[in-house]
Amino acid sequence: MYDLIIMGGGPAGYLSAERAGALGKSVLLVEASDNLGGVCLNEGCIPTKTLLNGAKLYAHAKDSEKYGVTASQVGYDLAKAMGWKNRVITTLRKGIDYQMRQHNVEVIRGERARLVSRNTVRAGGSDHEGANILVATGGSTTVPPIPGIDGTNVVTSRELLQIDSLPESLAIIGGGYIGMEFASYFSALGVSVTVVEMMEEIIPFMDPSLSSMLRKQLKGVTYELGATVERIEGSTLTYSRNGETHSIDAELILASVGRRPNVADMGFEEAGLDVDRSGVNVNERMETNLPGVYAAGDVTGKSLLAHAAYRMGEVAVSAMFADGERMRYQAIPWVVYTAPEVAGCGFTAAEAEERGIAVETAELPMRVNGRFLAEHGDERGVCKVVVDAKSRALLGVHMLGTGSSEIIYGAAAMIEAELRVQDIKQVVFPHPTVSEMIRDTLWQLE
Ligand SMILES: Cc1cc2nc3c(=O)[nH]c(=O)nc-3n(C[C@H](O)[C@H](O)[C@H](O)COP(=O)(O)OP(=O)(O)OC[C@H]3O[C@@H](n4cnc5c(N)ncnc54)[C@H](O)[C@@H]3O)c2cc1C
Repeated sequence: MYDLIIMGGGPAGYLSAERAGALGKSVLLVEASDNLGGVCLNEGCIPTKTLLNGAKLYAHAKDSEKYGVTASQVGYDLAKAMGWKNRVITTLRKGIDYQMRQHNVEVIRGERARLVSRNTVRAGGSDHEGANILVATGGSTTVPPIPGIDGTNVVTSRELLQIDSLPESLAIIGGGYIGMEFASYFSALGVSVTVVEMMEEIIPFMDPSLSSMLRKQLKGVTYELGATVERIEGSTLTYSRNGETHSIDAELILASVGRRPNVADMGFEEAGLDVDRSGVNVNERMETNLPGVYAAGDVTGKSLLAHAAYRMGEVAVSAMFADGERMRYQAIPWVVYTAPEVAGCGFTAAEAEERGIAVETAELPMRVNGRFLAEHGDERGVCKVVVDAKSRALLGVHMLGTGSSEIIYGAAAMIEAELRVQDIKQVVFPHPTVSEMIRDTLWQLE
């Protein structure tokens, strides 16, 4: 009998294994594929950010003259970029394998796990007993039921990360964060990109003013907003808007309309696990309806981000073996790693007001920041803060501009700690850094 059996070796699964192993618990981790790391490491966060960094370097090099750097033959070699991406993935996979060994985690690879009962997981033809079970089977790309979507030039993010030549043109169905990161990458390399989005604005969870500001800064990207894709015929994509039909041609079409939890064919229904379309239902301790069975990560449908998956896994392990922490979603930061990047944490003003909270807001353009101006002269950006008008506690920070991704954790810490404006004003930020934007924007409040 293991202390814990984990189904799925993505961020939720492998970090939970590590945490439980560190507590001296016996852990069995079952991963369906040959590699640990899940979507994030193998076909998500890490490969996209590795490629995006190359495209950012390329764009910087081409734009370096005003900084006094003359680069006459700037080029981009896709094969080398893919090679570097693969090396990064391999190195990080080894790191996870090392952590599993360090924490005495037993790993079964290449076998799909099946939940047989609240104490039993079937994998590799054998039944394994566990005092606790963690379901961490993650999620997959949703392929919308559009006629022609199975055409040879239609790809998902997984295939797009493996291409061996750049297309001349790319149409992206879906202007969510994944679609926009690819739009940023390919447009930076000179590919003509069209984003076709059903909503009236890209990345709907973002403060709308940041979305439109981001859109305007991505050069070489055309937007068809409020547009519903009707069909794909070869390289022609047809969409409708306000009753009118339009077509565009693209060498490659990316389907990027969302993700769904992996819950099918794993014995969940037969075992009596409470699952619906959004995923496995859990409470704030990541407990499911079956005693001893927990779920964490994308499979819960709660917050489809790797760092949220990590934290959910930690909360589950804590609920199993320690005092039991509670999962809080309010201060989970998000980042869109476009160039420029966008990051946010907590409520936008509209979200707070929907909840009946009276807010005060302030904003400052990034160009007032010395470090930002020095390093990103032509870029436009903004920092917005949202504060509870009554308690003066910080409720949200939303930033557009290079550097935001490395800073936003600070906002998460402040929101988690329920710091008020007067508390944050007493914190000293390093100068010159882009992080000062948060402090300076708060000083704009009355
Ligand atoms: C293109 C792209 C870019 C992304 N970029 C970011 C980013 O920058 N930042 C961010 O935070 N998030 C990003 N994400 C989302 C992130 O990848 C996920 O939120 C994260 O991987 C979720 O972790 P998880 O452990 O819940 O699930 P997964 O990573 O999906 O891992 C689940 C694992 O379970 C395995 N599995 C499934 N079924 C079984 C079974 N029956 N038995 C055994 N194993 C099974 C799978 O093979 C997989 O390895 C991105 C996603 C994509 C697609």
